[in-house]
Amino acid sequence: MSSGSRLRVAICGAGIAGLTCALALSRHPDIEIDIFESAGKLAEVGAGIGLFPRPWQIIRELGLEQDLLKTTESRLLEGPVPSFRYRKSDQREGLEFYRLITQGALIFLHRADYQQTLLRHLPPTCRTHCSKRLRSYIQRPSGGGTELFFEDGTSHVCDVLIGADGLKSAVRKTMLNEKADKAKAQGKWKESAELLGSVDPVWSGCNAYRTLIPAERLKARAPMHSVLTEPMQYLGKNGYVIAYPISRGKMINFVAFDMRHDLENTRFNGPWVCASDKSKFASRFSGWEPEVQTLLDCVENPLQWAIHTIPPMRSFVSGRVAVMGDAAHAMTPHEGSGAGQAIEDAYLLATVLGHHRANRNNVHRALAIYDDIRRPAAYHVMEHSRKNGQYFTLHVDGVDFNNSGKPKEQWDNLQRLGRTFEKNWEWGEFVGFFPRCVTGSFWRGLVN
Ligand SMILES: Cc1cc2nc3c(=O)[nH]c(=O)nc-3n(C[C@H](O)[C@H](O)[C@H](O)COP(=O)(O)OP(=O)(O)OC[C@H]3O[C@@H](n4cnc5c(N)ncnc54)[C@H](O)[C@@H]3O)c2cc1C
Repeated sequence: MSSGSRLRVAICGAGIAGLTCALALSRHPDIEIDIFESAGKLAEVGAGIGLFPRPWQIIRELGLEQDLLKTTESRLLEGPVPSFRYRKSDQREGLEFYRLITQGALIFLHRADYQQTLLRHLPPTCRTHCSKRLRSYIQRPSGGGTELFFEDGTSHVCDVLIGADGLKSAVRKTMLNEKADKAKAQGKWKESAELLGSVDPVWSGCNAYRTLIPAERLKARAPMHSVLTEPMQYLGKNGYVIAYPISRGKMINFVAFDMRHDLENTRFNGPWVCASDKSKFASRFSGWEPEVQTLLDCVENPLQWAIHTIPPMRSFVSGRVAVMGDAAHAMTPHEGSGAGQAIEDAYLLATVLGHHRANRNNVHRALAIYDDIRRPAAYHVMEHSRKNGQYFTLHVDGVDFNNSGKPKEQWDNLQRLGRTFEKNWEWGEFVGFFPRCVTGSFWRGLVN
């Protein structure tokens, strides 16, 4: 440990979660930060993401706002802001039935723009190590630190390990195996089995087909297409399409979802992410309205994502180790909030670790504060996202959204549906949450 350093923090994974956490922590010069990433270089990958006002508040606080706004045509607006337009589209002529209003603007970004901006802001004091795939770790008894073991045979010692290593997290796996072994040794067989149940992700029953469509390609086919200027969702039975402009309108982020509700929480047979072909899913949307067909005509080289989630855990923390982002609570994308939740985790982790009283001896208590606040919040969003997946695919018990021959009934049902998913997003409006929660009584654990 270099002189003057209060804590040595190792972050495993340089995705949105890990890099945001590193940047937030770098504001505390007495904390040493090492980031370990399995990839050979910090690649700019991924498609579009939407960020709600809550994580945006953190982006502003971290000084990223102005640079990020240069990469998007989304504008910062306060108060009620019109957002997605919703259409019932699994019919020859679509029916527009709802417009989502958010409190504050939803900002659409290219994931690569966000990552690049983070990297530009990261000070050189944050050491980044690529081609370092974590295999496991051991927490030494008090004072001995935590030793990380990498696939290339090297190791590293730190005071705090943050697992930001995504869906298949090696940190989560090691943490849960360690806890399960302890429970087993105490004869707590049920608890041990429950802990092991969260090691492997489960399939949500949903496949997403994602691509970026050059706006010029869409414009050539349909100069007035709605998604050239506005975020749209096209809903139907057991599937939906979401599309919106990103990168200053040059690209259209396109995702088509194919949902098998009956297969939720099962194992997916096949690769979880792979190159796909339009023919694999376009027929799923045959008979849908013309705006959807035009988008499908423009799709080239889609990636198929079998959407997986992490079964709930009793804790995101074990001693001096914590998991965050998708490693902790990978959720379905139907609330557009996985990255936003990772950003909230990052900010809170950096806040508790950055507290001047947090040190090598009490850091487990700082992490417990993170767990107390973030776990219920993230699970709340995760459940709302799951429900949105049902609403967007018109999967509501006892409701027939086709109502053939009864247009008034159909309209009323669709209006009710719109109000329901709008309400489902209300949690995102509490933008004052952070300053409040990290001042009051939460600090008692560190102060005492
Ligand atoms: C179709 C779709 C649409 C989405 N839309 C939105 C949206 O609109 N808004 C939103 O907020 N979220 C959205 N999300 C969710 C969002 O993309 C994720 O929640 C977010 O990217 C998670 O970030 P992360 O850093 O936790 O994980 P990841 O991005 O998976 O990063 C993990 C990093 O860890 C590295 N790594 C993995 N294993 C190891 C190891 N053993 N050792 C070292 N490094 C390792 C990986 O290489 C990677 O760099 C969407 C997701 C999907 C699938």
